[in-house]
Amino acid sequence: MSLFELKDVSYQYAAATRPALDRITLNVEEGALFAVLGPNGSGKSTLLRVMLGELETSAGSVTYAGRSSASWGRREIATQIAFVPQAEPMAFPMTVRALVEMGRYPHTGILGRMGADDRIAVDGAMERAGIADLGSRSIRNLSGGERQRVRIARALAQEPRILVLDEPTAALDLHFEMETFELMRELTEERSFTVVVATHNLNLAARYASRLALLARGHIEAIGAPEDVITADKIGRVYRWPVLVTSLEEQGSGVESPQVVPLSGGAASALS
Ligand code: ADP
Ligand code: MG
Repeated sequence: MSLFELKDVSYQYAAATRPALDRITLNVEEGALFAVLGPNGSGKSTLLRVMLGELETSAGSVTYAGRSSASWGRREIATQIAFVPQAEPMAFPMTVRALVEMGRYPHTGILGRMGADDRIAVDGAMERAGIADLGSRSIRNLSGGERQRVRIARALAQEPRILVLDEPTAALDLHFEMETFELMRELTEERSFTVVVATHNLNLAARYASRLALLARGHIEAIGAPEDVITADKIGRVYRWPVLVTSLEEQGSGVESPQVVPLSGGAASALS
């Protein structure tokens, strides 16, 4: 079943001279790990916000679970979809646990009391995100990577069906980047979550995602399985840099994923 269906969706910011999204048509199936790729400014964040119903499209239709996304109430949608935005100010001095508890608002209401279920959800979310021992720390004194995991925990505490993440691994070292991709895979494969993730890590997207959409200047340049999207021609063209695409077999699995190696020196200068 398609959870998200976008048909001919365009979006233009008030101040902009060209659309940030230009006639996007795509479906996200339930249980998919769907990766949104594309250079800076290609429309990834805008696409996620349109899917979440945060931005109203200027043309086309967006449906979530068969219903127009605009017809979902904010709190109703928050029980279904959790969003981890690219960056957010964390100015208030509060503990990690208090921030993760905010993920329960759609269930408890803003002034609602935390019940036993809520506490279990918060504990479980902190465990999964690998921050169980950070609960009493102030969110102001965390490293970039810790902060990012706290935000993922807050989203999991929401107990959604769908997790939408905007460049969740941008601040993470190799270990936590891998853990984040492993977590996204586990959520989709073992817990029938649907995950939509915007990322610049083409190689991990190719290994972990079931479907990829490659954006370029607001339109879809390619969409499909990793081997259909991650080609030297498409990646080289969209990112304006020559690349080699090799293939990596996951140990003993027989599954091969395309992997991008950007070229340097002479090969790169031949570009201009
Ligand atoms: P990405 O996430 O792929 O980097 P964005 O969706 O943030 O891309 O941006 C797509 C395009 O929309 C870019 O050209 C960007 O400059 C423009 N844009 C983004 N936010 C705004 C805004 N609030 N007002 C005007 N233009 C914007
Ligand atoms: Mg972005």
